[in-house]
Amino acid sequence: MKTIGLLGGMSWESTVSYYRAINEGVRHTVGGLHSAKIALYSVDFESIEQLQRTGDWQGAAEILSRAARGIQAAGADFLLICTNTMHKVAPEIEAAIQIPLLHIADATAEVFVNEGIRTVGLLGTAFTMEQDFYKGRLADNYGLQVLVPDDRDREIVHTVIYQELCLGNINAGSKAEYLRIIDTLAAQGAEAVILGCTEIGMLVNQEDTQVRLLDTTAVHAEKAVEYATSLQKR
Ligand code: GLU
Repeated sequence: MKTIGLLGGMSWESTVSYYRAINEGVRHTVGGLHSAKIALYSVDFESIEQLQRTGDWQGAAEILSRAARGIQAAGADFLLICTNTMHKVAPEIEAAIQIPLLHIADATAEVFVNEGIRTVGLLGTAFTMEQDFYKGRLADNYGLQVLVPDDRDREIVHTVIYQELCLGNINAGSKAEYLRIIDTLAAQGAEAVILGCTEIGMLVNQEDTQVRLLDTTAVHAEKAVEYATSLQKR
């Protein structure tokens, strides 16, 4: 079984979800008392968030590249960056290491390609919803059409992520707002909605709505399990 490298702490709340999902996946796939071999580097999110807010992506890339090299040195066979937003600096991180990076947008898009879904809604931080590093990859590499909420709703989605979910606060009013926004995207033609921030699965899940949801934490973790156990199927 390969060793999975996790670049986490963004936020640690969602890294916990990765840790659990990956270990459950390995138990399910391999059986017995098997658990995942993981090299985890968990950053201090406050410093990363400040760099995001001030637009110092180069500074963030340097911190994360250093952490990724540490994960590689610890014996990881491949790397996951446990956040959608920080895939903005995925090219810099990838260039700093020799092990492969499993990109979260690829893991997500492959599900839609397999299901024949062409138009998707996207919820995430403002960076993820508004910039091209994520949406562009879905459109250019997989031919997906990506819909995002309007200005006001993007602000709601973004604020709930940083002021509630990254602090572990689950709020019923915010959940209702997210479900309203998901319905709006579906009414605009989204065949599925991407929970494109690794904490959103803490707030809403498939049982809450008829709209097809895709939790990026879950698919990314599943991809890691597949990759780590590919030589060791039951
Ligand atoms: N975990 C979040 C994401 O998937 C947001 C935190 C961050 O900015 O990294 O985008």
